Amino acid sequence: MTDARILAQTMLGNEPYGLLIGEGWRPATGGGRFTVTNPATGDHLAEVADADASDVQAAIDAAATALPSWSIVPAPARAAILRRAAGLMLEEQERLATVMTLEQGKPLAEARGEIAYAASFLTWFAGEAERIYGMTIPASIANKRLLVLRQPVGVCAMITPWNFPSAMITRKLGPALAAGCTAVIKPAEQTPLSALELGRILRQAGLPDGVCNIVTCQDPIPFSTTIFDDERVRKVSFTGSTEVGKLLIQQSAATVKRLSLELGGNAPFIVFADADLDAAVSGALASKFRNAGQTCVCANRIFVQRSIYEAFAERFTVRVAAMQVGNGLDPATVIGPLIDQQARTKVERHVADALAGGASILTGGSAATPETQFWTPTVLAHATPTMLVAREETFGPVAPLIGFDDEAEVLGYANATPFGLAAYCYTRDLSRAWRMAEGLEYGIVGINDAIPSTAQAPFGGFKQSGLGREGGPSGIDEYLEEKYVSMVL
Ligand code: NAD
Repeated sequence: MTDARILAQTMLGNEPYGLLIGEGWRPATGGGRFTVTNPATGDHLAEVADADASDVQAAIDAAATALPSWSIVPAPARAAILRRAAGLMLEEQERLATVMTLEQGKPLAEARGEIAYAASFLTWFAGEAERIYGMTIPASIANKRLLVLRQPVGVCAMITPWNFPSAMITRKLGPALAAGCTAVIKPAEQTPLSALELGRILRQAGLPDGVCNIVTCQDPIPFSTTIFDDERVRKVSFTGSTEVGKLLIQQSAATVKRLSLELGGNAPFIVFADADLDAAVSGALASKFRNAGQTCVCANRIFVQRSIYEAFAERFTVRVAAMQVGNGLDPATVIGPLIDQQARTKVERHVADALAGGASILTGGSAATPETQFWTPTVLAHATPTMLVAREETFGPVAPLIGFDDEAEVLGYANATPFGLAAYCYTRDLSRAWRMAEGLEYGIVGINDAIPSTAQAPFGGFKQSGLGREGGPSGIDEYLEEKYVSMVL
């Protein structure tokens, strides 16, 4: 079946993809559209509306208009809508996963997993909506009563990346809606279809007009200028590169907006000689190659203690060499395409730099075909901490293996980066596990766990990997203001 016919089976696929603003779907004011491309085939998938600044303004107007009535909807009623939306996502899991694979490239099994993961944020924050407790504080003066109320921040703008087109939205939108905020969302230009399908589902679940607005556009600048200039937008939540995150920090100064930033990573994956070797190999495989290595938490530097280096490299390489590269719609595929040519160029640059610096290729090392974005999963032996592949986020299926001798040395290597999102450590020594968990300067540490992310736990980075936390019990705090009320009786 052609991509177009698969898309036509989606609810939105029969119509031109519009902007979701206020009471429904509409074209961009200037009539602009842009093309969404399948990264596996290069085929044009669909056309979506290309919003300009006036459309963004209209979306902010709609969110501001909807705010007073949405913020007073009782928490259990807000929670019920979120739960209904999560249920609809799971009912439509196959269809939504197919749309995601078409526009993003990840294997269908991973796309199904992401839909379930994305829905889990709506369910988790539905529960949190019902637990937005305030506080009373004992006063030092007899006739005073001190109270703390927790109220929604207001209109929130959200900017999301292409690597998790559904989950990166619900991880922000779930807590925002649960708290009583309204939203204006700009999905990544490479993957707008998953966002629009989510918008349809939220309306189907009964979300009132204007509470969630989705603005697709090819150029992010007019969007960000408009939201940062508007006093009514009280918060901006961004997931993407550290470079853009820094620009947004500067832009937020003019109107002192609250910011949440989930930025880039450079995860160390550390394997000690006392680790369960098979578990470490499987963990490294899952962490490194999920989404073709295009995740912010994926192992970027694999440190292996020298006494087991050869054994690890051998077992790991056999597994990597067996990974099938191809179109994500093929059930045999485990590695899909990179998102675009720019991503491929970065991977090429990192591999060339490593080889020039003395690394050697154990498997892979080149594009699967010269003209496409498929990169053969690669293992590099004898990599060093000074190579580009260890200093920058590669964002591709390349695993550099770096040897180390002892704990102090590897902890030094692991922390010698401006990033601090996720780190992994495999060991069976309980004391060492604690020392590493406490010593790693990272927001997320997986001990013998390569896939720690879950809606129930806080997700976010130290250092230049970001500000704030998403998910977990504290995720909703990002969308709430604390108001202190002092009352004299
Ligand atoms: P990116 O920063 O280029 O783009 C992310 C989003 O920002 C897109 O929607 C894009 O249109 C928008 N954008 C780009 N320039 C902008 C600007 N000047 N003003 C406002 N918006 C702008 O990042 P990317 O390449 O799409 O995503 C990959 C990056 O995201 C990686 O660094 C990855 O580590 C990071 N990421 C982080 C997390 C996390 O939770 N920490 C999760 C996923 C991805």
